[in-house]
Amino acid sequence: DGGSRTFFVGGNWKCNGTISSVDKLIDALNSASIPQNVEVVIAPTSLHIARAQEKLQNKGIEISAQNAWVKGNGAYTGEISADMLADAGLKWVILGHSERRSLCHESSQVVAEKTVYCLKQGVKVIVCIGETLAQREAGDTSKVVTEQLGEVAKSLGSDASQWKQVVVAYEPVWAIGTGKVATADQAQEVHQTLRSWLSSNTSSEIAQSTRIIYGGSVSAKNCTELASLPDVDGFLVGGASLKPEFADIIKSGS
Ligand code: PGA
Repeated sequence: DGGSRTFFVGGNWKCNGTISSVDKLIDALNSASIPQNVEVVIAPTSLHIARAQEKLQNKGIEISAQNAWVKGNGAYTGEISADMLADAGLKWVILGHSERRSLCHESSQVVAEKTVYCLKQGVKVIVCIGETLAQREAGDTSKVVTEQLGEVAKSLGSDASQWKQVVVAYEPVWAIGTGKVATADQAQEVHQTLRSWLSSNTSSEIAQSTRIIYGGSVSAKNCTELASLPDVDGFLVGGASLKPEFADIIKSGS
């Protein structure tokens, strides 16, 4: 509940779906009422994006990609460029998700490079950061997340117009897909750390206006308490974004 910051709810569909399940999800979203004060973005697979664009009629929902290639078009077999995302009318991309960091070895430097390129193409960025369980247990959470955000900040500097196009998703790795959600205290503590880090390292304006959303086992059950936290400005939802309860999570931000 960030006051002046518009609540943001992202649905990260990850590598899930069939043509028919995408059609069903979009049907449900078309009849969902999206509160005026909540921004909603869904991220189908690259294969399903065009289908979702074709079927989606709810003007309160935008579509995001889950990743982007940032070296332009050309001889890059298997990739989808940020240029193509922009050309296809996509407004958003998720970058640096922990699954891409761990499974595809994307470093914070790569994530920062991708962020800059996507913004240049006019595609807004949901940039994901978060510590592993081992890092949390070692007491390194603040260090890890500020270093991850720090790489992005090195590239964007104190340019408020750039930061306006960025949403920061704090997703503790141990909470993703595990059913083990961060407690309200744990979430608020990290979100506050990130916001004060932004204030010291970019500007207080950027710190106050940048949405910092939480991700990791968000559900209809836990969203209300998390949404009420002063520095939690929304959610990035995985598993529950494929279920009817996604509508309840959207409502928690209004
Ligand atoms: P989850 O995933 O909600 O299934 O935990 C969140 C995410 O990875 O964005």
